[in-house]
Amino acid sequence: MSDKPKLAMYWASSCGGCEIATLNIHEHILDVDAVFDIAFFPCIADFKVKDVQGYPDGYIDVCLFNGAIRTSENEEMAHLLRQKSKVMVAFGSCAYEGCIPALSNLTTKDATFNTVYLDNPSIDNPDGILPQPVTLVAEGTLTIPVFYHTVKSLDQVVKVDYTIPGCPPEPHQIWAVLEAVVAALTQGAPLPPSGVVGAGSVAVCEECSRKRDVKKIKRFYRPYEVDPDPDICLLEQGIMCMGIATRSGCGALCPQVGMGCRGCYGPVPGVTDQGAKMVSAIASVMDVGKMGEIDEAVLERQIEAVYDSIPDPAGTFYRFSMAHSILRRTRVAGNGHGKE
Ligand code: SF4
Ligand code: SF4
Repeated sequence: MSDKPKLAMYWASSCGGCEIATLNIHEHILDVDAVFDIAFFPCIADFKVKDVQGYPDGYIDVCLFNGAIRTSENEEMAHLLRQKSKVMVAFGSCAYEGCIPALSNLTTKDATFNTVYLDNPSIDNPDGILPQPVTLVAEGTLTIPVFYHTVKSLDQVVKVDYTIPGCPPEPHQIWAVLEAVVAALTQGAPLPPSGVVGAGSVAVCEECSRKRDVKKIKRFYRPYEVDPDPDICLLEQGIMCMGIATRSGCGALCPQVGMGCRGCYGPVPGVTDQGAKMVSAIASVMDVGKMGEIDEAVLERQIEAVYDSIPDPAGTFYRFSMAHSILRRTRVAGNGHGKE
């Protein structure tokens, strides 16, 4: 390798979309190539874990780590790359807050295995074989990673210097961060303070051109049930949109095309729990009457009816943020509390 700064990108429990988004910085990838040596990037180059193990500590200048911590292998790689990297970046929603993999924190490891390996129309597994971390065979002992009960975010297992939110992060935001790193490495420019980078500091609603005219809602609709007004706030039309609870930075991509924001940029600054923020935001757009004007029991039923019209509230409010939320996972007896 040359004496250029070293860049790594690793995927733990993830879909690969973060790598695709990184390549979507288009011609700027040539700038990245000009400035960095790639030290580890399994998606695009044939590096082995033993290559990383052989590097001195701090050898990698910047590690973009995407993916949640689902297995023992994910966690071991997080520790290894932290040890070998000067700057550790939680890249994308899975590393930042668990994202889709962490929705399994709403159920149990046993239930997840049952759905994936047993009770599934596309599975042919008559002997009910389940993955075992250790298997003895004639040739010796086979090991595979341990599947954890609870999905964790990267910062729950190692120290993280920066976080780039998004599922995946938007390419222009990725390049903005890499450009700042390149400027720091080549011109001595100061790096931004640690924390969230490559995103805005307000809510998605602030980037959204839809008008909010304080229309009140009595129930929520699935997108196929209504033909939304193209100019009015989706939430106020009864279409679930997490824009008010979600950090800006994407340019309000989803509401601009008629789909409610799903919340992939994580909570707005200053908010710990994105789902709780959304529950309180919904309360402000309900048209169910007011305390003192109608019977309290009727009011309660009408509030419940609004929330009942939201399919899968936990999966909706915590679609991306479950591992990082106050809830973190559901409490299920016998589900390995106290274990991983
Ligand atoms: S709730 Fe959604 S549609 Fe309404 S202003 Fe915010 S981002 Fe736009
Ligand atoms: S609008 Fe919401 S879900 Fe869509 S890309 Fe932006 S933050 Fe993500």
